[in-house]
Amino acid sequence: MKIKALTVFCGSKSGANLSFLNEATSLGNLLAQKNIDLVYGGGNKGLMGAVANGCLAKGGKVIGIMPKLLLEWEAQHTGLTELIITQTMHDRKKILYEKGDAALVLPGGMGTLDELFEMLTWNNLKIHNMKVFLLNIDGYYDALIHLLDKMDTDGFMYDNWKDRIIVCTSVEALKPLLS
Ligand code: AMP
Repeated sequence: MKIKALTVFCGSKSGANLSFLNEATSLGNLLAQKNIDLVYGGGNKGLMGAVANGCLAKGGKVIGIMPKLLLEWEAQHTGLTELIITQTMHDRKKILYEKGDAALVLPGGMGTLDELFEMLTWNNLKIHNMKVFLLNIDGYYDALIHLLDKMDTDGFMYDNWKDRIIVCTSVEALKPLLS
């Protein structure tokens, strides 16, 4: 399936490794070059801000979805192509899932992992069928990948997680997969 819009989940902070910020910017650049719309949480901070600014800088289209509750806290981006304000966090997540043809997860914190696992759980429950790219920059997600394997060998998985989650180590490696 041709990906026309990609939902990106990532940290509202930048993290301690500069590669995270550089890769987030490169991802934004790449989406604009490939004419793929960026759908994300709407913030202007951390990796969220970097991916949005990277896309806008190359003339890409960026749709932000932000709940009322976070308008000040996460500093909404004022230069987006479109900013959708939702009543609740749950409404936000629903729209984030609906607007993307696939999803990509950059490094992030609790919120990013919550979004990743909700998306994967909804896949299991056949609520949707989202392909997920996991950008494992500098081994950030190594421990998580190890846990997914452990969940599989210990009998808690329904499917082979590798059928659903495509792990890449850089935006460069992702390029040929985003068509
Ligand atoms: P974080 O990875 O914690 O920086 O959060 C990334 C994004 O997830 C931000 O847009 C947060 O507002 C959002 N977020 C944070 N906590 C939660 C949560 N419990 N449920 C859903 N989204 C969250």
